[in-house]
Amino acid sequence: MSQTTLCSAHLPGFSRRRPIGPTSTPCTLPADHRGEHIGRAGERWPNVAVPVRSLNDPDLDFLMEFRALSRRLDALYASQAAGNDSVLLRDRARRLEALLSAMQGFPEAMAS
Ligand SMILES: [Zn+2]
Repeated sequence: MSQTTLCSAHLPGFSRRRPIGPTSTPCTLPADHRGEHIGRAGERWPNVAVPVRSLNDPDLDFLMEFRALSRRLDALYASQAAGNDSVLLRDRARRLEALLSAMQGFPEAMAS
């Protein structure tokens, strides 16, 4: 995979916070990303520097779909962490992981 320059934007007010902990890590997305910034700890904040082009933008549709699926997977992980370790839940998480991998360009993940 080719090397990508990262966005590296910081949370607003970064300079006023203690330089320790997840809120001091910069955005981990590629430099040309649109939409929200996402930090290493999964924290999100609005990207005001790059305007969203259009609500019909196919890239934006993709990002919104991806984000919705990511949130669903996060919820499943949270449920598992809270002690719900059912086979159904594990199966759902596995399928979501495969789907998200495929959306990131690893379609072979869907085969398993
Ligand atoms: Zn960013």
